Amino acid sequence: MAITGIKGFNDILPGEVEKWQHIEATARRVFELYGLSEIRIPILEKTELFCRSIGDATDIVEKEMYSFEDKGGNKVTMRPEGTASVMRAYVEHKMHALDPVARLYYMGPMFRYERPQKGRYRQFHQIGAEITGVAAPTVDAQVLTMLTHFFQELGLTEPSLQINSLGCPCCRPAYREALKKFLLDRIDKLCDDCKRRYETNPLRALDCKSAGCQEATQGAPSMLDHLCAECGDHFDKTRKHLELVGTPYSINQRMVRGLDYYTRTTFEMVTTMLGAQSAVAAGGRYDGLISSIGGPQIPGIGFAMGVERVALLLAEKDFSRRPDLFIAALGDEAHAEAFRLMSALQRLGFAVEIDYEGKSLKSQMRRADKFNSRFTLIIGGDELARGTAPLKNMDGGTQVEAALDAASIQAAMTGGA
Ligand code: ATP
Ligand code: MG
Repeated sequence: MAITGIKGFNDILPGEVEKWQHIEATARRVFELYGLSEIRIPILEKTELFCRSIGDATDIVEKEMYSFEDKGGNKVTMRPEGTASVMRAYVEHKMHALDPVARLYYMGPMFRYERPQKGRYRQFHQIGAEITGVAAPTVDAQVLTMLTHFFQELGLTEPSLQINSLGCPCCRPAYREALKKFLLDRIDKLCDDCKRRYETNPLRALDCKSAGCQEATQGAPSMLDHLCAECGDHFDKTRKHLELVGTPYSINQRMVRGLDYYTRTTFEMVTTMLGAQSAVAAGGRYDGLISSIGGPQIPGIGFAMGVERVALLLAEKDFSRRPDLFIAALGDEAHAEAFRLMSALQRLGFAVEIDYEGKSLKSQMRRADKFNSRFTLIIGGDELARGTAPLKNMDGGTQVEAALDAASIQAAMTGGA
């Protein structure tokens, strides 16, 4: 029996991969306009890094991590997200000593043991960005505008931006207590998960998908009404700067995010197209994260988007590539000439195809059709003898006689032949 891949771990095949390359190239191009540089981080980290940064009472750490002991007895985890690793690298390499402001982006696979379904996999891919060293709300607005700009460049009108504030260690504890008090009367309605984390992480009930929790949290107090003066001011200024540059957003007071390290601004890019997998990108400010992993007290903000979900939103668009030229050849000599021309034209920067095995003209033309090349050139004995061959523009239908040398064919193809 043939061996198959592991459930929740996908192959991305040619035909689909062009879409991924387009998403990645768009992210690089847009993020670099905003001064970000790429950072490449390892897939495996010490388990402790994620426990400390993401938080012990989160879904990820409680039940989703791929953790194991390596042959040396070290407890390691395949990264479930990128922020913790980026911040670990930032601290480890003392990047802050040079300049506390680091503007970084990353892309690559993440691993979470979840129930696979559309838009949710066990190996999935994130493109993420992190900006450290700036506490000012201008940077919150900048990050959100960059993310919006990225989706606009992809030509997507969905997803839309939702923002909220989670306050800070100064004002969140009082809010937590107010929420716990509110939930206490309704605790029977909460799902088992939310009952269990009533003490450790009661805020999660606000964005829990279960019907009971949604009902129980109707009319719950809002964090936004409990923000301290500084957090309130930060939120107002973030909004003002978004409005200044016309970045559309709405406020979602129930958005709490699943990771412990968030403070103040949190946000999601949400879609209605992917059912329960509605968050295409998510992030927030994490002013306490860097110090929690042993670094200095430096603020940060960032997000990660799910590439699979972005690709699903682009499902209708065609990213397939077409070669510039297909050369059909009849006879051994013509076939050798086609091979020589193909090689010379590839070196000039053209994508060229031939039929490797020199089958019948009919089957070669079928192949040309399948490739959907922009031009075709047909070489037989007569063409070899006179040193020219018909070059046909497959889009316009026009045809010219091109001399059988790469430069002439190049000129004919770029000259609008
Ligand atoms: P969800 O609520 O859908 O589980 P999350 O809050 O766990 O998302 P984050 O940890 O914030 O997600 O990750 C950022 C983004 O990564 C998500 O918005 C989503 O697009 C994507 N993502 C997260 N988990 C998965 C997964 N298992 N498969 C595919 N994409 C994912
Ligand atoms: Mg999740």
